[in-house]
Amino acid sequence: MQSIKIMDEILANKIAAGEVVERCASVVKELVENSIDAGSTEIKVELKEAGTKEIKVIDNGKGMGKEDAVLAFSRHATSKIKDEDDLYHLATLGFRGEALASIAAVSKVDLKTSEGSIGTHVIINGGKIKEVGKGDARKGTIITVSELFYNTPARLKHMKSLYTELASITDYMNKLALSRPDIRFTLSNNDNISLQTDGSGNQLKVIKSIHGSDVARKMIKVAGENDDYSVTGYISKPEIHRSSRNNMVTIVNGRVVRNIDINRVINDAYHSYKPDNRYPITVLNIEVDPSVIDVNIHPTKMDIKFSKKDTLLELLKNIVIEAISHRNLIPKAEVFPKEKYENLSLDLERESKIITNDFYKEEEKVLENYLIKEEEPYQVKENIENDIEISRDEENNEGEMPEMYPVGLVHGTYIICQNEKGMYIIDQHAAKERCNYEKFKKEMGRPNVSSIALLFPIIIELSNNDFIILKENMQILKDLKFNVEEFGINSVIVKEHPAWITGDVEYTIRKIIEIVIATRKDFDIEKFNEKVATMMSCKKAIKANTNITMEEMEALINDLRKCKNPYNCPHGRPTTIYYSNYDLEKLFKRSGFDTIK
Ligand code: ZN
Ligand code: ZN
Repeated sequence: MQSIKIMDEILANKIAAGEVVERCASVVKELVENSIDAGSTEIKVELKEAGTKEIKVIDNGKGMGKEDAVLAFSRHATSKIKDEDDLYHLATLGFRGEALASIAAVSKVDLKTSEGSIGTHVIINGGKIKEVGKGDARKGTIITVSELFYNTPARLKHMKSLYTELASITDYMNKLALSRPDIRFTLSNNDNISLQTDGSGNQLKVIKSIHGSDVARKMIKVAGENDDYSVTGYISKPEIHRSSRNNMVTIVNGRVVRNIDINRVINDAYHSYKPDNRYPITVLNIEVDPSVIDVNIHPTKMDIKFSKKDTLLELLKNIVIEAISHRNLIPKAEVFPKEKYENLSLDLERESKIITNDFYKEEEKVLENYLIKEEEPYQVKENIENDIEISRDEENNEGEMPEMYPVGLVHGTYIICQNEKGMYIIDQHAAKERCNYEKFKKEMGRPNVSSIALLFPIIIELSNNDFIILKENMQILKDLKFNVEEFGINSVIVKEHPAWITGDVEYTIRKIIEIVIATRKDFDIEKFNEKVATMMSCKKAIKANTNITMEEMEALINDLRKCKNPYNCPHGRPTTIYYSNYDLEKLFKRSGFDTIK
């Protein structure tokens, strides 16, 4: 039966927003979406030279008859849209009838397709049909697009590097595989497989195929719903984070979409559990009535708008916070040999191997200023242990930070602890900082902050510019319970300060004035409290950073365990690292060799 209909002109123009074929990735996208629409359960994408030489897509879908196979390459042919209203729903994935025609116009296309009985073979060069003949009867479609842009050299020049082309194809395929775990996908370039999923419908297995089993084991399953939205999916434990937001995947009604607000809310929910400029790996499936959403129908975009956005964002935030609280989040020390994960296939994110520790810059600067012992650079390691099954989760993630007992202090910096499970190393500074931080935040959040009069008022001299800015924003300081007035030329005098400022009062007041000047009209009390609490807690922790007694260590560990988030300092660095007994045995090559009794 002929299922491809010629779209009416208006509809076609409505969709034809800009050029469709721009990159190898847009060709792959078009071909693969056709395969999905044909009901395929297995789709193979084989690239040569990142697709610049050849893109071959093999599927086991319903295939096409001879008439449709030829018609598929004419402009404005589509089998996917019945009427205009369909455009506003997410029922169909692809909708660009002219795309195949555009692709065929700038490449050499070889199409073999069959509905199961008679096969058709169509060859098209530069948009002209060269040959229509009989082909294999195997049900499904094999389409090969080679020499893309061979007849449009100007466009060819616009092609990015092979690496960039391959990276964007890989990224597209990864996301598609996440949204369709029920389809077996294979992606290869020059015969090297970079993605292979099993089509079992298990999203966590797809995550494992993309990120490796170490990451997959550190994903937390989440779910939640409200009146309009239902959310399921996986979010990474805070110890897993990446340099880009690219691994935060949102799937709405089965389709990968982009929404900046969703990513922001999720990332904010991890605040202080990880560095703010590093991003988690998340895959969230949102189910919603299609009438509540509006998808930007530009062919190359996937932006989405929600009509009840606030309730969705609130729901997502609660889901993430719920998932990462009440959980033992102490990262395990990496004890596996490095060679195991050196031969990694290409993955956009694995560029992060070269990333050093610049996400802790702010804190390091502070520590340097005070000439504390050098902090060891915190390495981001990508650890892939392929032979470990996802299901084998040796760590017990439920419950709070476990009890542990100090046995000693190294370099006045690291507290060594133990319990029956293994050994823990606590960074004294990070632990103190966390305890101070939670205390400060609590005090600053009290509704009736009282002020304390300074015995010796502090006079602060400013540049003329800063002085003007501060004068305009003096009310902010007054609202914070400062007694502050102008004092001569370009100076202010502080006579009283809010009670929560303790320790080095003058330093803190100067810093607060700096923050007020820097933020000005964008002053936000939440962010201000956050910044000041972090700053004061670091400062206070540095002062106390000396050799402490066993009793003081015990007290610190107790305080830390009482914290809402005992696992990270306010900058997102880990407070505690864990070596299980098994890890220790492995490190000393004891496991598997001789039994220790
Ligand atoms: Zn610090
Ligand atoms: Zn810190």
